[in-house]
Amino acid sequence: MICKLCLKEATLRDSHIVPKFMHRPLWDENGRLIKTSTDPSISPKITQEQLKQDLLCGDCEQKIGRWETYARDLMFRNASSPEVYENAMIFHGVDYKKFKLFQLSLLWRASVSSLTFFKNVDLSASPHQERIRSMLYNEEPGKSHEYGCLIIFPKDKNIRKIIDVIIEPDEFRFDTYRGYKFCLNGIYWHFITSSHTGRFLFKNAFLQEDGTLPLLPDFNFIKDEYEKLYRAHLVRISTHNLNK
Ligand SMILES: [Zn+2]
Repeated sequence: MICKLCLKEATLRDSHIVPKFMHRPLWDENGRLIKTSTDPSISPKITQEQLKQDLLCGDCEQKIGRWETYARDLMFRNASSPEVYENAMIFHGVDYKKFKLFQLSLLWRASVSSLTFFKNVDLSASPHQERIRSMLYNEEPGKSHEYGCLIIFPKDKNIRKIIDVIIEPDEFRFDTYRGYKFCLNGIYWHFITSSHTGRFLFKNAFLQEDGTLPLLPDFNFIKDEYEKLYRAHLVRISTHNLNK
């Protein structure tokens, strides 16, 4: 089979679309996951879906794995302490190349995946999918605004404790910009994929080439989504109790 990243013939690995460290706590002891959608008419439901697919050869899997390890250590293993403000957290001294390539790999894997969970992420009809593949393959992180990502975490401490829900990634529009949003363990990742992102008003909130990485608080437009996340969390808790 052909590896989706290097395009060479190889034995493919059963690759995680979402890195293990971002979803490991999601499955209960019976391998079940609560899945929720950004479509308000779809209720959270229980599934045994695994977010894995044969996508990458061993070498490409390892390459992406190195960026994942960097992002995991930075964000979740206290490898670096962010400056904490009332309304944001800012990491300094971030390895721009590694973290940006990690971000791009998340968007790209979801786009090339044929799993239904990622059905709303599809860049294949535009030049973006091939452009991002080439950036990943050549380890070129591009400019800060290229496929920039806003990382948003909830201000509400109770919601911040929700680390066990994943929402189907979906398309979103913001002003004249298009993009895709992922919610992984309570943290939102909003990728802006439009070609004119160089003019995006909040482009300073993307990871910067000087190693500055802001984590933003929730804005009003995302409040409803956090409420949904909270409801899905309650479903998970009640299901968990039923199992006992
Ligand atoms: Zn490969």
